[in-house]
Amino acid sequence: MVSGTPQIGVLALQGAVAEHARALQAAGAEVRTVRRPEELEGLQGLVVPGGESTAIARLAAPVGLMPAIAQRHGEGMALFGTCAGLILMASRVSDAEALEGFDRIGGLDVVVRRNAYGSQLDSFTDQLDVQGLNDPLPAVFIRAPIVEQILHPEVEVLAEAQGSPVAVRQGRMLAASFHPELTGDHRLHQLFTEMAGQ
Ligand code: GLN
Repeated sequence: MVSGTPQIGVLALQGAVAEHARALQAAGAEVRTVRRPEELEGLQGLVVPGGESTAIARLAAPVGLMPAIAQRHGEGMALFGTCAGLILMASRVSDAEALEGFDRIGGLDVVVRRNAYGSQLDSFTDQLDVQGLNDPLPAVFIRAPIVEQILHPEVEVLAEAQGSPVAVRQGRMLAASFHPELTGDHRLHQLFTEMAGQ
């Protein structure tokens, strides 16, 4: 039975796991970490964190976690991917060589390019106008992917930076090319917690 408090998982293979868990708890979710397919059972939502998409895809492969997440999403589990998570959710990655041979989640109808804003030294912060939020959202970009193309009219652009989409939503998928868990502003986690609970 679905209780009033959404149960949200954080994929915990690599990357910014604890920060997401804290932000989700602050947004009122009940949080657990996920490393194996059976841990997806009963979740209304899952955060796929930033970190390194190639590392996450490699660590997920032995237990078939990427296809299991895609299947649970098909059954209704909401997804929130940030940075590397966006790369893992995109239906197309234009420079996918390093990910070749490894399953991703897919399903989000965008084309992304990894590390498109430059190297680690080119990380930057911005204040974003986000659709549905009253005040600008602080955003930290770290070796961020760029959304090169939107492939389906169902994909809503919630925010842009430097002329490209940086936060998108499609059905029960939310994705951002930045790290919303690294600031004290948890409004995107709040939005996702509401999405997951619906
Ligand atoms: N560049 C990383 C990748 O390709 C993503 C960076 C991040 O998640 N901060 O996975």
